Amino acid sequence: MPYFGVLHRYRHLLDIPAHTAQVSLLEGNTLLIPMPRLAKELGGGFELWVKFEGLNPTGSFKDRGMTVAISEAVGRGVKAVICASTGNTAASAAAYAARAGLRSIVLIPQGKVAAGKLAGAVAYGAQVIQVEGSFDEALSLVVEITQRHPIALVNSLNPYRLEGQKTAAFEICDLLQAAPDWLCLPVGNAGNITSYWMGFKQYDRLKTTGLPHILGVQAAGAAPLVLGHPVDHPETVATAIRIGRPARGEQALQAAEESAGRIISASDDEILSMQRRLAAEGVWVEPASAAGLAGWAAEIRLGNIRPHGWRVVAVCTGHGLKDPDIITRTSPAPRLIPAEMGALEEAILET
Ligand SMILES: *Cc1c(COP(=O)(O)O)cnc(C)c1O
Repeated sequence: MPYFGVLHRYRHLLDIPAHTAQVSLLEGNTLLIPMPRLAKELGGGFELWVKFEGLNPTGSFKDRGMTVAISEAVGRGVKAVICASTGNTAASAAAYAARAGLRSIVLIPQGKVAAGKLAGAVAYGAQVIQVEGSFDEALSLVVEITQRHPIALVNSLNPYRLEGQKTAAFEICDLLQAAPDWLCLPVGNAGNITSYWMGFKQYDRLKTTGLPHILGVQAAGAAPLVLGHPVDHPETVATAIRIGRPARGEQALQAAEESAGRIISASDDEILSMQRRLAAEGVWVEPASAAGLAGWAAEIRLGNIRPHGWRVVAVCTGHGLKDPDIITRTSPAPRLIPAEMGALEEAILET
């Protein structure tokens, strides 16, 4: 049967109004990729799969929630949508608004958005506004303006975003025929961890697929849920999770607790090193996307988790192409040679 996107496939399981339209770019149905070599390198004793959400139409999991948020907005006659974004939400909102013929406005923190994300938002025709401030400040502005004007808010404060994002948990259970033992994922504004937990619980009630332990991982420089207080100046290379006041923080902590999991932090070095290890097995993700697995690796190394033949799914939330600079900036430029065989042989055969 042809595939028509997450609303078409899972609409009956989503808590959304009847007026919801169907604006889709055929998001979802992303690959669950086995990573046997990386599992072995991390000590073995578990089965590792990557849910590669970078394969969504705009390169991140945000598309799952955006198809639902925009579809709902269209169904009630909205003409414009707005969001604050560290980048991926902007690109996704712009794409789905374009698909629906709506105006889109996105607020980004000045100078802190990866090149591939900004370019996406612009390409899809959003009005992009840079704010002299953090993501958290941009989000406050967006919330306030939607209370004053008839513009729909499509940040994950919008409950339909979470409904759409639940579908990733459904897909994992459908594919593995059960929930995994552990799910690890990065945590920024904490909408995604909240959605996964909602999705796994719902599927378990319906189909007794079981529940995973959830390992949520924040970047060490932006770890309010680990520190127990907001972070005023969050800093990390993982720009997608550079958030100091997570909108869904309480729910994220609850997901960790209810699932007998936890929320921890990983340093930028650990995150970038895991980004390279994933790429070394053929999966290039953006830095934030490597945080979940970086946290898992640290828990094993510290002896906090001892794998017992577990099945582990790591959610890799966005594609490496979103943030190419982080790779090119930290690697030597390709060597330049004359167009001669001798020079080529010398370049590739030496050492
Ligand atoms: C948005 C985003 C996150 C964080 O998700 P939250 O729902 O805000 O916790 C992580 N990684 C990528 C690539 C993202 O775009």
